[in-house]
Amino acid sequence: MSEKKIPYKIYLEEEEMPRRWYNVRADMKNKPAPLLNPGTLKPMTFEELRSVFCDELVRQELNDTDAYIDIPQEILDFYKMYRPAPLVRAYCLEKKLDTPAKIYYKFEGNNTSGSHKLNSAIAQAYYAKQQGLKGVTTETGAGQWGTALSMACSYFDLDCHVYMVKVSYEQKPFRREVMRTYGAQVTPSPSDTTEVGRKILSEFPGTGGSLGCAISEAVEAAGSREGYRYVLGSVLSQVLLHQSIIGEETKAALKKYNIKPDMIIGCAGGGSNLGGLISPFVGEKLRGEADYRIIAVEPASCPSLTRGKYVYDFCDTGKVCPLAKMYTLGSGFMPAPNHAGGLRYHGMSSVVSQLYDDGLIEATSVEQTAVFKAAEEFARVEGILPAPESSHAIKVAIDEAVKCRETGEEKTIVFGLTGTGYFDMVAYGKFHDGEMTDYVPSEEDLQKGFAGLPDVTV
Ligand SMILES: *Cc1c(COP(=O)(O)O)cnc(C)c1O
Repeated sequence: MSEKKIPYKIYLEEEEMPRRWYNVRADMKNKPAPLLNPGTLKPMTFEELRSVFCDELVRQELNDTDAYIDIPQEILDFYKMYRPAPLVRAYCLEKKLDTPAKIYYKFEGNNTSGSHKLNSAIAQAYYAKQQGLKGVTTETGAGQWGTALSMACSYFDLDCHVYMVKVSYEQKPFRREVMRTYGAQVTPSPSDTTEVGRKILSEFPGTGGSLGCAISEAVEAAGSREGYRYVLGSVLSQVLLHQSIIGEETKAALKKYNIKPDMIIGCAGGGSNLGGLISPFVGEKLRGEADYRIIAVEPASCPSLTRGKYVYDFCDTGKVCPLAKMYTLGSGFMPAPNHAGGLRYHGMSSVVSQLYDDGLIEATSVEQTAVFKAAEEFARVEGILPAPESSHAIKVAIDEAVKCRETGEEKTIVFGLTGTGYFDMVAYGKFHDGEMTDYVPSEEDLQKGFAGLPDVTV
């Protein structure tokens, strides 16, 4: 098919839509390391995990063998409200950059929660409902995950209790109100409603909280209430599985126009959008069917892949969760307060970590003022106002396209545009006023985080 015929937006027809999630673990020769019980240091069993998570989600978490898992009809029906997500040919950006590169982005921001997180939220709420549960608890940082989960829970008529990092609760009241509109109960964390919250408050009075703290509170709250389970918006293998809808749709849209990407770029916080986008392509690499350059982009202020250690670590501050082997900066690591761009989790999905350790994907880090500059450049030509998180991928896509201008290579670049940035205008404001600064942790800063790593040899 000739180049000219490629439309601005590639959509899939209903009969072309993926009906299965793809589980890349099935094709990985080196499987991601199992979650460990922090007491016994033995792999977490189904029985242990089901006290925290829904049964079906535990099965998915432990499933390293089935390459495809059917998406239940109720979830496919919900996906119809906002999917397929368009694969956009960035003609305007290409023109602006005067590059021979062909740039495509998969836009996941076309739903009220404004990000890809709804893809997994609806699946997790569905399985909770199937199990006959009353509700779920979770944590949220800036609020994207909490918003997505509130939408999903209201659809299935489940209670949703969100522990929101206190600084965000106070500084980002709009997201909080979106969650309450969908019926969620939102508690600033740390709070005095849990044991672990009270402990953190007594040790650090006046703390603004962190994701790691809010996770501990949400896990405790789920465990202490009949009919509740805990759900998580990233990092876990089940979440990457649900997010594979992004990659499956992208692959189908590219195939429709016979487009072969040279590189695939995604931002990496906990690794769920990146893992979901790249899974089908990594699968082809693993099976020797195709080759791609795959690049994970993280903030220089929270560089888990590029500067972290690949070891077992705690997933939360209160150390109530299982241990995960991942690239990590240590559960005590906190990005500097001037960091505004999201992607601030100390660790990385164990699937993404293993793929990176095996050299199947690359990683790079970028500084936040450069990220906001790329965001603005993108918004001005492509129209969409991107989330700061997504803009990490934009930054590297632009850099690669500029390299093509210099070398004359017509590379095909695909990147994930995970969401919109309407709730991040305070950060955009700082950027416009020239008040945004960059911070790259020193070796000494990193050592402090590493000092808190558990001593696990398995
Ligand atoms: C949460 C979020 C991310 C990062 O999370 P991952 O699990 O790494 O995908 C990226 N972009 C947006 C818009 C988000 O809301």
